[in-house]
Amino acid sequence: MTDTDCIFCKIVAGDIPSTKVLETERVLAFRDLHPKAPTHVLVIPKDHYANAAELTAADPQLAAAVLAGATAVAESEGIAETGWNLLANTGAEAGQTIFHVHFHVLGGKSFEPLLA
Ligand code: 5GP
Ligand code: ZN
Repeated sequence: MTDTDCIFCKIVAGDIPSTKVLETERVLAFRDLHPKAPTHVLVIPKDHYANAAELTAADPQLAAAVLAGATAVAESEGIAETGWNLLANTGAEAGQTIFHVHFHVLGGKSFEPLLA
């Protein structure tokens, strides 16, 4: 499942370069182009779903694989013990700008004030 106009589908296809940190048969993780923390990695399913809700409804096993990928990235980035944030902006009003579901893995910086 691919959307020809989608930047992240193009990254999956290799048409746009990215710095990959993890790849499995169905999941890809790569560094954010504009990192907001020392570790800022995006974890996506290779199949195109617009957001976390659509992914979870359509393919819960794949949703679980993406979350497992995020955990593996936290471990390989060395932030599993110190703490990390997992964020999926869902919908334009929430700040989603790319409508291929992605989970931000953020670490090395405290975002506590966000939720204070
Ligand atoms: P959103 O605002 O949709 O939750 O997050 C989209 C993220 O994708 C942003 O943090 C942005 O920096 C990142 N991004 C946008 N275009 C590219 C790109 O071409 N390559 C990479 N690696 N990240 C991108
Ligand atoms: Zn896509």
